[in-house]
Amino acid sequence: MALTLLCGALSSCEDADGRLRRFEFHALGTLIEVSLWDVDEDTALVAERALIADFTRAQRDWQPWGDGALGELNRAIRARREYRADAELKALIAAAQPAYRSSGGLFDPAIGGLVELWGFHREAPASAPPPAQAINAWLARRPVYADLKFDNGLVSSGNPAVWLDFGAFAKGYAIDRAIERLRRLGIRNAIVNAGGDLRAIGARGNRPWRIGIRQPRGAGVMASIEIAGDESLVTSGDYERFFVHDGVRYHHILDPRTGYPAPAYMSVTVAHQSAAVADAAATALFVAGPSAWRPVAAAMGITQVMLVGADGRIEMTDAMAARIQRLSAPQDIAASEAR
Ligand code: ADP
Ligand code: MG
Repeated sequence: MALTLLCGALSSCEDADGRLRRFEFHALGTLIEVSLWDVDEDTALVAERALIADFTRAQRDWQPWGDGALGELNRAIRARREYRADAELKALIAAAQPAYRSSGGLFDPAIGGLVELWGFHREAPASAPPPAQAINAWLARRPVYADLKFDNGLVSSGNPAVWLDFGAFAKGYAIDRAIERLRRLGIRNAIVNAGGDLRAIGARGNRPWRIGIRQPRGAGVMASIEIAGDESLVTSGDYERFFVHDGVRYHHILDPRTGYPAPAYMSVTVAHQSAAVADAAATALFVAGPSAWRPVAAAMGITQVMLVGADGRIEMTDAMAARIQRLSAPQDIAASEAR
């Protein structure tokens, strides 16, 4: 009875020997699952309340089309007004800047207007692509993150077509913040998993954390990887949001140079210490495609990558190939260097 209650909404579940505690909740459009190792029940409860509060605030404040701070900023930019951003929003905007620059703009949070044209800002998918004319009009206005200006705490944009959307970054950023929060509570061994993107710190007793990487098509796991110390594993996939029109699949990872979904991959997985950087990089490498992902990875400081091509072929950096355990046919692995 007590155990059943312990697994309720605002409490922690524990495993048989009581050393693993888990709790989960919904935020940022996904399931957030937190696992803690060797943490007492009171600390676990404090952690759970803190993370729920943090993620709930993030969900409200970072919604590009919502009533929160980011929605306000976007509407101000469209109206050519300056906006006084609070410290949290300013920190988010600043945190995404290095990845925008090092990716050569392939990761660009100013892409919200294009996301909206494709209808990926809504829960329900669109039924057809936008007219080419509308995409060309967006391309002609060329909104980019570098259009943002900062002046004494005021944010504005030289280009009113900028509409900020941190969909490719905010989950990773929130995971990093959650890990910092857990550390401040004295927690040393934990995983924060937001819909398959995760960061792990410490270990599970004397074992590393073992993580599964899902198949981009169908159910199940295609590979597994062990993580210990402090590392994030983030995947960008064409299966998260998409629709099919006339037999063609249109997904939510968009190439800001063409205005269309990036065609080369089904999924890109990146391992890196920071979940925010891994999140931005997975998106950027997905967009970069086969001829450019290596230099973009090098510029972003990323060495561990696995890419599943639209044709199902798998490519990896040597550093990734050295540690990943494939669970399906090995003949399609083409190991290569990141540099
Ligand atoms: P996933 O949803 O699989 O985690 P991403 O991290 O790549 O994938 O995030 C995709 C989201 O990021 C899209 O829904 C959109 O809001 C936004 N987005 C799409 N293309 C880009 C891009 N080139 N740069 C920045 N953000 C993007
Ligand atoms: Mg991403």
